Amino acid sequence: MKDDNKLWESHRIVLPEMREIIVSRCGGCRFFVQIQGREEIRCGCVAGIERYRRLHRRVPERIHVVELLKLAGKEGLQKILEHGDPEERACGMFLPRLQPPQKAGIFPSKFRKSP
Ligand code: SF4
Repeated sequence: MKDDNKLWESHRIVLPEMREIIVSRCGGCRFFVQIQGREEIRCGCVAGIERYRRLHRRVPERIHVVELLKLAGKEGLQKILEHGDPEERACGMFLPRLQPPQKAGIFPSKFRKSP
């Protein structure tokens, strides 16, 4: 009986509103920003900062690390940098960017971790 069931054959049902999250990566998320340090630019997720998560403020493309330290503290900055891989699978808080990552200056292959 299982072999005759076409629904069972594809065994994964994805709700239309969840599809975008499942196929997306952090690099395409609005909360994924460039963090300007003194000598280098790294990436991270600012969804943990309330003013950005609640969209009270526009999420900038690039934030200076000193500003993030003021907003999130040292431990918060560590968490922000933990999600710095643009190729990482998107989480449930994913919000699509207003402009594509390439236009925003984020090039996923440039930041890809070496194996
Ligand atoms: S998908 Fe989730 S972890 Fe990735 S940048 Fe967006 S909010 Fe952060």
